[in-house]
Amino acid sequence: MTQHFIVIGNPIAHSKSPEIHSLFGAQAGLDISYQRQYCPDDAASFTAVIEAFFHGGGVGANVTVPFKQVAYECCAARGGLSEHAKVAGAVNTLLLNPTLLTKGVSPAEALYGDNTDGQGLVNHTKRLDWSLQGARVAIIGAGGAARGVVLPLIEAGIGELTISNRTLSKATNLVNELSHASPAINDKQIQTCRTVDLSGEFDIIINATSIGLSGETLPLADQLNCHYAYDMMYGRELPFLQHFAARGAQVSDGYGMLIGQAALSFERWTGHVIDVVQATETLQAQ
Ligand code: NDP
Repeated sequence: MTQHFIVIGNPIAHSKSPEIHSLFGAQAGLDISYQRQYCPDDAASFTAVIEAFFHGGGVGANVTVPFKQVAYECCAARGGLSEHAKVAGAVNTLLLNPTLLTKGVSPAEALYGDNTDGQGLVNHTKRLDWSLQGARVAIIGAGGAARGVVLPLIEAGIGELTISNRTLSKATNLVNELSHASPAINDKQIQTCRTVDLSGEFDIIINATSIGLSGETLPLADQLNCHYAYDMMYGRELPFLQHFAARGAQVSDGYGMLIGQAALSFERWTGHVIDVVQATETLQAQ
């Protein structure tokens, strides 16, 4: 029997998730249908669409811009949240809480949320052979993507963390909120600074800003260096990566993170562990 999945967002036409998950389905030998689902940009519409999907027998849904926070609130009030979703304050993967279903709770009340974005990034750095153990890491950006990656990075054993942002107050607020949300984060001394003031030697610098969409370039200090530079953006020329590649760093865009988070969602829904290296090769060849 065909298992049904969707990715819900606005806009949604550009999403690569259907191609990625169709490939995963073929790799796992499962009969799946994975569709893009447009939704008007308001919480009531999102809830109505998701309820209809799961009432109709849907197995799982990915959530993308601008609904990750709405999905978080929806699950917090119903079937629950994973630790990563709780700390991130955002949900990118929806499923039904099986324990609640066996107790006779309706699908709408059993909605459960996870967040696989941050672990997708961590898994990609492992595939790249970039060691996180004890690493001195800097994240540039203090929005949703930065928030989602902090706990997975700390769980992966990084040594030091600095979060820099154009607007310093957003970085300090983020660290305060995360420290209250997670004892593991509270145990870590996280430095904050403005992006222009970020300097020194890091093992890994992660660009978690949306600047790549604007064509602008980040104001990076001349004294800022790293062994590895990662940009969460993909599918376009990335001046951030060009800057550090010219200084001898190894660099990567965020396409592997995209596939990594998708593989973890797929595993959550179906129990199948995806061979991400093979899937990436096939997708890149396409
Ligand atoms: P948000 O809108 O939540 O945050 C944007 C961040 O970018 C803020 O820190 C903001 O700084 C900073 N920023 C924006 N414009 C500029 C600029 N001109 N100069 C300096 N800083 C700037 O976005 P998200 O956190 O949701 O997403 C960030 C990026 O991560 C996006 O490019 C997104 O595509 C990517 N992403 C990739 C994923 C993947 O799977 N590869 C998954 C999730 C996200 P300020 O606070 O000062 O405004």
